[in-house]
Amino acid sequence: MNKIRVRIAPSPTGYVHIGNFRTMLYNYLFAQKNGADFVVRIEDTDRKRFVEGSLEGLLKVLDWAGFKYAEGPCLEKRAGSFESKNYTGVFEAGVFQPYIQSERLELYQKYARELVASGHAYYCFCEPERLGKLKEEQRAKKQAPMYDRFCLQNVSEGEINKNLKSNCPFTIRLKIPTDEKIEFADLVRGKVSIETSNIDDQVLLKSDGFPTYHLANVVDDHLMEITHVIRGEEWLPSTPKHILLYQAFGWEIPKFAHLPLLLNPDRSKLSKRQGDVAVEDYIAKGYLKEAIINFVALLGWNPGEGSTQEIFSLEELIKKFDLEHVHKGGAVFDLQKLDWLNSEYIKKLPLNELYENSMEFFAQKYFYQNASEEKKSEEYLKKVLTIEQDRLKNLSEVGEHNKFFFTDIKYDKELLRWKKITDKELTASLEKSISVLENISDDDWTRENLEKNLLQAAGDKPARNATHSVAGGRGDLLWPLRAALTGEQKSPSPFEVAWVLGRSEALKRLYLAIKKTFDLK
Ligand code: GLU
Repeated sequence: MNKIRVRIAPSPTGYVHIGNFRTMLYNYLFAQKNGADFVVRIEDTDRKRFVEGSLEGLLKVLDWAGFKYAEGPCLEKRAGSFESKNYTGVFEAGVFQPYIQSERLELYQKYARELVASGHAYYCFCEPERLGKLKEEQRAKKQAPMYDRFCLQNVSEGEINKNLKSNCPFTIRLKIPTDEKIEFADLVRGKVSIETSNIDDQVLLKSDGFPTYHLANVVDDHLMEITHVIRGEEWLPSTPKHILLYQAFGWEIPKFAHLPLLLNPDRSKLSKRQGDVAVEDYIAKGYLKEAIINFVALLGWNPGEGSTQEIFSLEELIKKFDLEHVHKGGAVFDLQKLDWLNSEYIKKLPLNELYENSMEFFAQKYFYQNASEEKKSEEYLKKVLTIEQDRLKNLSEVGEHNKFFFTDIKYDKELLRWKKITDKELTASLEKSISVLENISDDDWTRENLEKNLLQAAGDKPARNATHSVAGGRGDLLWPLRAALTGEQKSPSPFEVAWVLGRSEALKRLYLAIKKTFDLK
């Protein structure tokens, strides 16, 4: 039996769409699970959609995700790799190189001519104006736009040769057999069948000498010995054309698996309008690789057998993934689930890793850039992160809800007042906090000590008892303290905040608060 070989065949047309990332992931999982080869091929023959820099972006995403491949373009020079002809700084490794289609143009031209010679394709010299008019007429008659085979029926051998000799622009079209039924067994969708009368005579080679997607895709899947084509459902309508091409060449047809569409929560097709669709956007927002991979794996697949498992490591996914459990119906992209998964992964990160992953996000923040060196120190940031870790949905939120850790604080003195305590009580409360904190040395400045000593001083009535609206509860001490340390209505507990700020900054903020209470009188 042939070695199982899969490929991903992205086009460098901008960012990496979540749907394309899912295709990459499923191919990678399938390859790993089955000990198959995983090939990366770049389909860059549609020059109108080409976006400068996006090939490199694509390769970076593959690298970021950790999808290893021995064949295809890469950003580092590997043993036996060559620099790409068309892209500087890109190298290609593997026996079937080049893996970039714009570097294989002569091949497609040769195969297109072969199809003409064998009678499966024909030259078309129709000018764009004629084709445009034809389309309009068909549209007016409410017919599907289809080429009318003018050149197949009316242009003689002699005329063809004359046109070719005089460099008359031409395309090569596939001669779709009439009234046939194309059937194939899709590994996800089951039996698919389509009437050839619904298929247009597909252009295979364009007038600029570039192949269309269909020709290049089939030629390369054949030459690269691909056994399983796993791709998005949007390519399903193309598959009958591909099958016809395989038949015309007399080549073995690979197995196909078409992955379900990605949908917005309202079940419309996932679109940019409803939120980000680029993997790069999620990376930039501080979603962790593990969370993105876990989330995307579940967009159209679960391990079955009534499984309710939601958290999967890459190793587990490799072990459990199979095409049989890929769903036929569309998969809803639920951002809340991604947020939840991401927060679960963030909670599990060792502090060092959380710190390392967060640095680039801190660096982007105005409040961080303008903070003192001490507040930019590793030790300080790790304390902030210790407090925030369980509350973060993504890493771009670091510090965002607790800017008071970095900046001087401004607040209205009335914020200090807990319920209806009097001015005198408020001053006394702050003084009490000060005396408790002054009694804790720098060395003993731990969360546990702060909590123990402050709670002791606060007494044991609960802080936020709904029925408690007058002085006398924990809130008398803890609210003014917390407000003085943060200047905010809401924040983590005063013990946590005081711990992060450190002894001298915490006391400084309390002295400032006391000063404010003098103005109250
Ligand atoms: N170039 C196509 C894409 O951008 C590949 C489709 C396929 O896998 O055949 O997704």
